[in-house]
Amino acid sequence: MTTTAPSQAPAKPPPAESETTVGNYFVANYPPFSFWKPDRVPEVEAALDRPPKPETPLGVYLHIPFCRKRCHFCYFRVYTDKNATAINSYLNLAIQELQLYAARPFIGGRKPQFIYFGGGTPSYLSESQLLNLTGQMKQLLPWDAAEEVTFECEPGTLSDHKLKTIREIGVSRLSLGVENFNDHVLEINGRAHRSREIRRSYHFARELNFPQINIDLIAGMVEETEENWRDCVRQTLELDPDSVTIYQMEVPYNTDIYREMKAQGKLTAPVADWPTKRRWVEYAFAELEKAGYSVASGYTAVKNPERTHFVYRDSLWQGADLIGLGVASFSHIGGTHFQNLQDFEPYLASLRERRLPIYRALTPTTDECLIRELVLQFKLGRVSASYFARKFGVDLLARFAEAFSKLRSWNFLQVDGDCLRLTRDGLLQVDRLVHEFFLPEHRTSRYV
Ligand code: SF4
Repeated sequence: MTTTAPSQAPAKPPPAESETTVGNYFVANYPPFSFWKPDRVPEVEAALDRPPKPETPLGVYLHIPFCRKRCHFCYFRVYTDKNATAINSYLNLAIQELQLYAARPFIGGRKPQFIYFGGGTPSYLSESQLLNLTGQMKQLLPWDAAEEVTFECEPGTLSDHKLKTIREIGVSRLSLGVENFNDHVLEINGRAHRSREIRRSYHFARELNFPQINIDLIAGMVEETEENWRDCVRQTLELDPDSVTIYQMEVPYNTDIYREMKAQGKLTAPVADWPTKRRWVEYAFAELEKAGYSVASGYTAVKNPERTHFVYRDSLWQGADLIGLGVASFSHIGGTHFQNLQDFEPYLASLRERRLPIYRALTPTTDECLIRELVLQFKLGRVSASYFARKFGVDLLARFAEAFSKLRSWNFLQVDGDCLRLTRDGLLQVDRLVHEFFLPEHRTSRYV
């Protein structure tokens, strides 16, 4: 039986900010990063010395922090001024970092289930750098059991040769950072690529038979219009990718857009407001559904849900271990979360001394682990109560009775037997709604 809301008239949802102001909207982990502390780094050493819990998958993430240009909305740790010598040093030391991990008991004979090259721009690397890097990674932890190898690309960095190399090293999921198809919108937002490079690289990639090609879009870039957004969706459908990921534009503190706002004394970012961005994603999802895609999360639509998976996301959101290599990378091992040093030189210096470059850590309580998985899995649009009963011994509906009751009264949640499902309206604002599950001490007005 499906129930949406109690019989009385729906209560009004919490007041939502309409304008886009500065701060993080996207919830990437829980507890919030501001609760991860340097004095908890010793907990990492203990986690590395324990054998893995049975059945826990292992993944490897490598952050490639180099880009041709810095996009005005970018809040990642990236560098646009590093030469080949600096990049080679970085890659060699990232391999040393993997070496330090590969010898520790937490590996327990496991091989990675998934590998993810994120950035920054992994496709900024040359073919020889890629071959050398991945050859050494495979020697330390073989990829023969990997179900997925994801590689993020900026279209303007791809040639047919480089794509061939990317395919040959074993990449199975190619993710193209398209963001928008309009050259003026791309330029004004500081993107390095243009629309002709999108089409060229996409067609090269198709010819090489990558098992999965994903296209990233952003709803609400500076100077985005209704008409242009519809055209972006049309052009996406024309390319016919295996999956489409759509982010709603946010403006965190360390972006050029915010620096400009601050200089001009403005509180509102020069981008579409939240209701408009939600409407644009809703339009894109509806058009993709008409073309046979299925909505697989608050940000993704996939063409063939039986065949098209995202192992990295699904494993991490169910508590997989992750070795995060590279500057500012995030890891999770044996119940402890941690982040690497956030600046280039200190990161390299630590590894030159053969020390893991860890900056801050946190070992969440069992209750916080439960909330983490609930929050992250809700981004898929549905959670299974029996999964949480099995894994945490908790009756989800009783433990979060108040939060579920609110979500149902706002018409954002349906309870269908074991399945708790967000309505489309709820899914499009899931990052705002999941705060309802946070412990009181973690409820801040901004997610940091
Ligand atoms: S390409 Fe991605 S990582 Fe690089 S500057 Fe742009 S948004 Fe940031």
